[in-house]
Amino acid sequence: MSGAMSSPDLSKFAATSGTSGTPRIVFEDVEKRFGKNVVLNGLGFEVAKGERVTLIGPSGSGKTTILRLLMTLEELSGGYIYVDGEPLTHKKADNGKRTALRPKEVALIRRRIGMVFQQFNLFPNMSVIENIIEAPVHVLGQSKEEARSKAQSLLDQVGLGDRGDEHPTRLSGGQQQRVAIARALAMEPEILLLDEVTSALDPELVGDVLGVLRDVANTTDITMLLVTHEMQFARDVSHRVMMFDEGHIIEESAPDAMFSNPQHERTKKFLQAIL
Ligand code: ADP
Repeated sequence: MSGAMSSPDLSKFAATSGTSGTPRIVFEDVEKRFGKNVVLNGLGFEVAKGERVTLIGPSGSGKTTILRLLMTLEELSGGYIYVDGEPLTHKKADNGKRTALRPKEVALIRRRIGMVFQQFNLFPNMSVIENIIEAPVHVLGQSKEEARSKAQSLLDQVGLGDRGDEHPTRLSGGQQQRVAIARALAMEPEILLLDEVTSALDPELVGDVLGVLRDVANTTDITMLLVTHEMQFARDVSHRVMMFDEGHIIEESAPDAMFSNPQHERTKKFLQAIL
C-alpha cells in the first residue's frame, strides 16, 4: 500500500474518474446493530450515477441509519458499502476476510459525499462564509481566495449573497438550512445526502429550502439520497422511491407509481397516514 498518500489534486482526479457503468452506490449484505437492536440485516441496493432516490417508511425503519452509514458517521456491523466500485469502510481481502480500511483510505472516498441534516449543524462561532470555506480549505486544500469566491457564488445561488459576513444565529432556520446546503455543495460532492432537511423549519420557510434543492436537482447530476416527508417534493425530484419497513425495502418504484398506486399494504397505510 505504499504511495497511498496523494496530493489533493490527484485524489480529486481519482474522485471524478470512474467507469460510467459502475453504480455510484452499492449496499451489499449490510448489517447494522445498536447493541442488541438489529436495525439493518442483509440490506442490499444500488443507486446509479446521477440518480435521485427518496427513502420513505415509518419512524425507526432505518432510513437515517442508511444515510449515516454512507457518511461514515456510524460504524458498519457487517457487509459492504461501495462508492463508484470502491469499498467505503470495509473490503473483502484476498483471503475473503472482511477487513476494515484505514482512516486515510476511508477519508479519500468519504469526501465525495456531502450531507445536510435536519438541525443544520452550522458552526455558530464562524460567519456564514467561514462555515462554507472551512472544509474546502482544510480538506480539499483550496486557497482561501478560491474558496471564498466559490462560496460567494454558492451563496448567490441559494439567495443569500449578501449574508456572508453574518453569524448563522442571526439568520432564520430556512436561511441557515440554505447555508448548510451551500456548505455541502462547496465540497463538490458526487453524492448528496439529505436527512429530513425541512422537518425543523416553520412551514413558511420550507418552500425556499425546497426551491434551492429543486434547483440543485435540475442543474447538476449529483446523486442524491433523500429522507423526507415532503411527498410532493419527493415526487418532483426523485427518480425512484424506496419504501422501508423494519430495515428492509418492501417496495420500490418510480414516484408516480409509488404514490398513486402503492402495491404493499404497509405502503398504502403509511401513505394514507401522511398524505
Ligand atoms: P428512521 O430514520 O427510519 O426513523 P433510524 O435509522 O433513525 O430510523 O433508526 C432505526 C433504529 O435504530 C431505531 O430503532 C433507532 O432507535 C435505532 N438507532 C438509531 N440511531 C441509534 C443510536 N445512535 N443508538 C442506538 N440506537 C439507534
